Amino acid sequence: MSAYTAPLQDMHFVLNELAGLEQISALPGCEEATAETVTAVLHEAGKFSSGVLAPLNRPGDVAGCRWEDGDVKTPAGFVEAYQQFVEGGWNGLNFPCEFGGQGLPKLVASPVLEMVMSANLGFSLCPLLTGGAIEALLLRGTPEQKATYLHRMVEGSWTGTMNLTEPQAGSDLGLIRSKAVPDGDHYRIYGQKIFITHGEHDMAENIIHLVLARLPDAPEGVKGISLFVVPKFLVNPDGSLGARNDVRCVSIEHKLGIHASPTAVLSYGDREGAIGYLVGEENRGVEYMFVMMNEARYTVGLQGVAVSERAYQLARSYAADRVQSKDLADPRGPSVAIIHHPDVRRMLMTMRALAEATRAVAYVVGAAIDQAHLAPDEAARQEARAFVDYMIPIHKGWATEASIEVANLGIQVHGGMGFIEETGAAQYLRDARITTIYEGTTGIQANDLVGRKTAREGGITARSLIARMQETVDRIDPVDADLAIIRDALARGIQDYTACVEWIVASYGSDIRAVHAGAVPFLKLAGIVCGGWQLARAADIATRRLVEAGSDRDFLSAKVITARFYAEHLMSRVAGLRQTVIHGAGSTMALPVERF
Ligand SMILES: Cc1cc2nc3c(=O)[nH]c(=O)nc-3n(C[C@H](O)[C@H](O)[C@H](O)COP(=O)(O)OP(=O)(O)OC[C@H]3O[C@@H](n4cnc5c(N)ncnc54)[C@H](O)[C@@H]3O)c2cc1C
Repeated sequence: MSAYTAPLQDMHFVLNELAGLEQISALPGCEEATAETVTAVLHEAGKFSSGVLAPLNRPGDVAGCRWEDGDVKTPAGFVEAYQQFVEGGWNGLNFPCEFGGQGLPKLVASPVLEMVMSANLGFSLCPLLTGGAIEALLLRGTPEQKATYLHRMVEGSWTGTMNLTEPQAGSDLGLIRSKAVPDGDHYRIYGQKIFITHGEHDMAENIIHLVLARLPDAPEGVKGISLFVVPKFLVNPDGSLGARNDVRCVSIEHKLGIHASPTAVLSYGDREGAIGYLVGEENRGVEYMFVMMNEARYTVGLQGVAVSERAYQLARSYAADRVQSKDLADPRGPSVAIIHHPDVRRMLMTMRALAEATRAVAYVVGAAIDQAHLAPDEAARQEARAFVDYMIPIHKGWATEASIEVANLGIQVHGGMGFIEETGAAQYLRDARITTIYEGTTGIQANDLVGRKTAREGGITARSLIARMQETVDRIDPVDADLAIIRDALARGIQDYTACVEWIVASYGSDIRAVHAGAVPFLKLAGIVCGGWQLARAADIATRRLVEAGSDRDFLSAKVITARFYAEHLMSRVAGLRQTVIHGAGSTMALPVERF
């Protein structure tokens, strides 16, 4: 099995050339993110990810987690690796300095997260969920709650969880039944939560659960759900750990992938009721969760990038080693490594192009998140916020769906060995499989995209995205054949995307089911076009840099070739998706439910 090598050169290219690191470093509070600091941070993160986390990936997958009478043991080596993660300050990278974080922008945290997730997706889920819980407390916690929890959580010595799902309430959080009963200055929480990532484990001293539950007499549906902070161990006024709270891990799930991440069933209030504290106002829990979910969805999209990159690296190294069959152009010569065969090249190029395109879209969205929070000008903040809100379902849905395609191709490149667990190729497909499900399935992302984000705002943000993409087309001077192909493919993609946007806006009121029947194809179309947009920008910049003295010609010309491959092989899917979006609903909905 190949080692993980952080793709630092591509990361730096995307950060600097596409995502505008320089502008982000100029934002108030981001002054620390100088080019030298970012280079050093990425270098160290690469070393930590490949040296400490990646070697635990396969053993962690094989061993999985163990439940023992309410406690959960993570695989061998995970406790020590997590300790190193905390000591290295990796947990607090983009959290505020006032709580012990390093205050670096989201854009800089993105490649670091990508590396950690590429190296070991199961491990990475613990800090990911801690990050979600930190965001919740930063957003709505009282000063006392912030003082009690945030330093330890930002440091990582306490971890966090997000407790939404219940057996009857998955995509539809309005069905949540867990109860919160007022009891003096706190509440008693009762109910069962399922599928709680790192809901119990042995890597940290305390676990801070963020829990959605209903107050007595709360209104039905999502408007009657409140958010509570429920620590596993209660915290004494001096910050030390107090009594064990009434929350127990009843079991952990046996699942397809991410074996190193315990997925817990948590029971609240089997005895006296778990003590919880209200976060923010009553009945506004789902609203708060949605603000944080945007950020969590961003990170799950990055998981897609991370798995694609790792699957590509593994397939590339296998294809370079595995000797099989002769070169078509040299039938009398020796057998060659399979990387010489055109079909293997096609698979590797598809994997590479999707990894690079999803990374480029991800970091561009990451930069916009920073702009939305920190741009000094209100109009600039609003513009960035609209872009982020629109792009989150596209990035999350498309990058994760793409990772399944990439990991699947990775198995194919390995031939029979891909089906055998030892090579590790199968793990990436198994791990990738959850990313299109949690934090809102692709179907839920696509509903959000066509409904709230496109139709209900009359296509305003979609059209401004179209204008930005068109600017790229207009700017590209097709000085050579590659750029001409890339530019034309993008121009056609924009036309198809525009046609779908206009159809969705026009049809939503009269035939909402038809629009939603094409929601996932539309999301995929939007993702492919956005990826083509970013790779076209990359090819344009790379072409100009190629003529500069001292430029890295191998890297830059590979960028152009990858963009051309994407234009010819992936952008060509867009026309078909347009047909499906606009004309496919009839057959989707024709068969009566009882005939399935
Ligand atoms: C490994 C793992 C870790 C998880 N971690 C957490 C966690 O830490 N915290 C937490 O709270 N939850 C967690 N979850 C739960 C996860 O977020 C849910 O599984 C997910 O939101 C989907 O809900 P569900 O499983 O109930 O599926 P359902 O909601 O039952 O959906 C089933 C299918 O129906 C589709 N569907 C449902 N409604 C619609 C609709 N309106 N339109 C179109 N299609 C629809 C879905 O897209 C899906 O294909 C985790 C789950 C797993 C498996």
